[in-house]
Parts: sequence; C-alpha cells; structure tokens
Amino acid sequence: ASTASPSTSLARWRGFKRPADARHLANEVDGESVDAMAEAVAAAYPRLSHRYYALKAKVLGKPKLDQWDRNAPIETGRPRRFDWLEGRELVLSSFGDLGGEFADRAGRFFDQPWIDGQARPGKQSGAYCHPVTANRHPYVFLNYMGERRDVLTLAHELGHAVHNTLAADQGTLLADTPLTLAETASIFAEGLTFDRLLLAAPKKERLGLLAGRIEDGLNTVVRQIAFHRFETRFHDERITGEVSAERIGQIWLEEMGASLGPAVELNAGYEHWWSYVSHFVHSPFYVYAYAFGDLLVAALMEARRADPEGFTPLYRELLAGGGTRTYVEALKPFGLNPRDPAFWRAGCGRLERLIDEFEAAVAS
Ligand SMILES: [Zn+2]
Repeated sequence: ASTASPSTSLARWRGFKRPADARHLANEVDGESVDAMAEAVAAAYPRLSHRYYALKAKVLGKPKLDQWDRNAPIETGRPRRFDWLEGRELVLSSFGDLGGEFADRAGRFFDQPWIDGQARPGKQSGAYCHPVTANRHPYVFLNYMGERRDVLTLAHELGHAVHNTLAADQGTLLADTPLTLAETASIFAEGLTFDRLLLAAPKKERLGLLAGRIEDGLNTVVRQIAFHRFETRFHDERITGEVSAERIGQIWLEEMGASLGPAVELNAGYEHWWSYVSHFVHSPFYVYAYAFGDLLVAALMEARRADPEGFTPLYRELLAGGGTRTYVEALKPFGLNPRDPAFWRAGCGRLERLIDEFEAAVAS
C-alpha cells in the first residue's frame, strides 16, 4: 500500500495543482470551501469530540475510553417503539414545523399511497426514494419495524420525496440536484424529526438518545474530516517520494489523536487502522463529502433557529431550484457563504449544542 499512489501521479499529469482537485471538480465543489470546512472542524475538535469522549468515559465509569468503546451504546433500557401511525404523525408534524405546504406534500405520499413501508417476507432490505420523471411523483421504499431509527428513515426518505415534488417544475433535465445539495432535504427532515423525538423523550431516555445522535454526528463530521486531513497529508508527502507503512501509521496516529483527544486511548495496533478505510484506496478524497452534506444542513438548521418564519420561503426556493443553481448560489439568499470558515463553524454549533445537553443530562 505504501508504494503505489496512482491518483497522486494522475493529478499531476493532468495539471491539477493539488491531488484533491480532481475530486473537487467531479463533486462540483471548490477546494476553498473544503479547506474552510476542514479548518473549522479541526478548530472545533476540543469543543466537540474531546469534550464528548471525556463525558462518555465518565458515564462508563472509566478514566479513559479505549478506542473500541467510542461507539459503545450507553442505553440499557428497552427502546421505545412507534407504530406506523405514530411514526407518520411524528414525521408529518416535523414537516409541519416548516409550514403547512411541507406537511401537505409529505402527507400525500401516505394518502395515495406512494410509500411501500411494510416489512414482509421476501422484500428487499434498505430504504430509498425513487424518482421517475419530473412530471410523475417518486416512490418511497423502506422497511418500517417501529424502531426510533425507522422513524428517522421515514423522515429522511420523505425529505427526498418532498424535495422531488418541489423541484418538479424545473422539468426532468434540470430537476436533479447537484451532489452537494442532494441530501439537504433528507438530512434536514431527519434533523427536525430528531428534535421532536428529543423533546418528547422521558428523562431516562434522553442520555441514550443524545449519545446516539452525537456519536453519529462525530462519526460523520469529526472523524471524516480527520480522515480527510490524514489522506491530504499522505498525498502531499507522496509527491516527493514513496511513503513507508511506518510513516503512514505515524501520520494516522497524529491525526486520529488530534481528533479524538486526550480522553481516548489509541490502543496498541491502532497505527494500522488506516488500512480499514477502503475509500483511501478506492475513492481518494471521497470521505469529506459526508461531513460536507451534514454540516451544510446543520448550518441551514442554525439559520432556521435564528429566524424560523423568514427561513421557510428561502428554503422552499432552494429546494424548488433543483439543479439550476450551485450550492454557493443556492446558499446566498440565506446570507451564507461556504467559502468562509464561519459557515462551517455555525454548522458545528448544532452538534456542540447537543453535547451541551448531554453534559447537562450527565450532571443531573
Ligand atoms: Zn438520502
């Protein structure tokens, strides 16, 4: 693994300034935005991951977390279940938080019905929203088993569905969103539904609920950015010559140590863990896309928090634009600029607030 890096050479032969630039071009993202994001997230490590893992060690009664306990569940009670009608009600009221039109559009999928939600023998696993052409409605597919995450999945896929119906007027060729905005409506709908779940959760469920959401957030944002910084350093060194496995392990430990913080023990053998991330080999510079989508939505959710009424028409406009605008143009009406680290700092703010709530729940 240390000897070959075709992507580094290819990028150079094709005249890209930096090894990651080919990926940015394919993603229709500018490197400036990605750099601003990586910088803002790394600066937030102490407030996010470092603080959370120290709190989690405390909850588990350990001085330090072994790295394999990072995602260990802390919830021990029997999880609450939601039947189909309860799930529907919760999800539709979350869409209602954006205004009646959003709830109506989502509601039609239940009424028609355009959702295959029932799990049954022989049915394929997974969940998706399948578009047809712009003048036809999409179909939603999932396997609803009544768990909390099924409610969130229902919200996620209906987010895609509502986005699809809003962008339909653009016509089939322009309705399709660019990759940067493809998960916006879905992650947003999930976020609103989670907020409602948290609000309704009895006190004894709060800690586990928060932990699960925070860990998802840390794995999607902090960890993927740490991965991105690791591979950026690797490719930068690779330009001047081969990089040994020992050296790769060293860069890995530095970047993981910086992102996980002093409360997580990087146990013996952890220096080899870079090899489990297949993206590094098969899709170089792919991992930042996870953090990008998540933080972009979090920044939008922060904008909504500041002004819920003013937000809805702008958000509707963004979704209805389909593929006619780039993410930079689409975010401009909100006064948001993804080339500025402040945009990504605002996105980190949502995760930070969840950790504040976790901290308060631990103390109480
Ligand atoms: Zn999705």
